[in-house]
Amino acid sequence: MTWIRKIIREELSKYYLLKESVDADDMKRIGKSFLNFKDSQINDFVDWINKFPTSGRAPKGKTKEFERIKEFKKYAETYKEYGLIPLSIKSSFSWLDEDYIDTLVDMFFSSGPERIDSIQIGNYKFVNDSLMSASRFKETSKQIANFLNRFTGFHKKALNGNLEIHFKSSKAMKSKAVYKGEYDQIWIRESNSRDVATDEYASLLYIIVHELAHRVERKFGLPKSFRDEDFYTTRYSRVDSLGGSECFAEIFAISFFGKGKYPQFSDKIDKFNTLTQIV
Ligand SMILES: [Zn+2]
Repeated sequence: MTWIRKIIREELSKYYLLKESVDADDMKRIGKSFLNFKDSQINDFVDWINKFPTSGRAPKGKTKEFERIKEFKKYAETYKEYGLIPLSIKSSFSWLDEDYIDTLVDMFFSSGPERIDSIQIGNYKFVNDSLMSASRFKETSKQIANFLNRFTGFHKKALNGNLEIHFKSSKAMKSKAVYKGEYDQIWIRESNSRDVATDEYASLLYIIVHELAHRVERKFGLPKSFRDEDFYTTRYSRVDSLGGSECFAEIFAISFFGKGKYPQFSDKIDKFNTLTQIV
């Protein structure tokens, strides 16, 4: 073949790839039929291997597989040019298995699952640092953004500036949600992220509000006249006898959900609302 014919053929094969959408499942099925290669399959083999691109760079981490495709293409060219079926086709395939064929096809023809790493909704930036699917990431982010949009008055201070919410894998954290002061980020454990339908005590939404109280404290400090002995509520509000961070976070969350939900703390809620109006 002259060099010009070769170039034309290469260009045409690229065009062919672009023009014709290749069905990955078909490519896998046909490819696997060559594992026990018979000479009668030679034309199917040539059609099959010519659907793979050979120009450009190998997909990341797939150099060997890409070399294999190029090797197969040479067999196809040998056949086209000399009419001989290289024995190497049969022996090459005899070393391969079905998984390998899947890998070859997936390298070029399978569109992997859609991935979205971050979404901006208003002032909130959501980051998917977990294996959560793109659709669930979008849906959960929207639900949490809607929830945050309910914040008013003093509670809204918690949303000051740009709030980042990161979904993390279960390995990365133990609790359902946590405020990471050093990064100014709320982290949510991915495995708990479905749990947005309930706002009971210690639910994910409750904990988000509690953690956002720590953000308020970090950014603005505790309200000046805040004394924890005035605001002991749940058992958890007493865990840090010094500083009162947990006490503040608990009354912040309890007052957000209100007296209807926490009638036993009505007087504390009133007191907190009065105090934070003055601040
Ligand atoms: Zn806390």
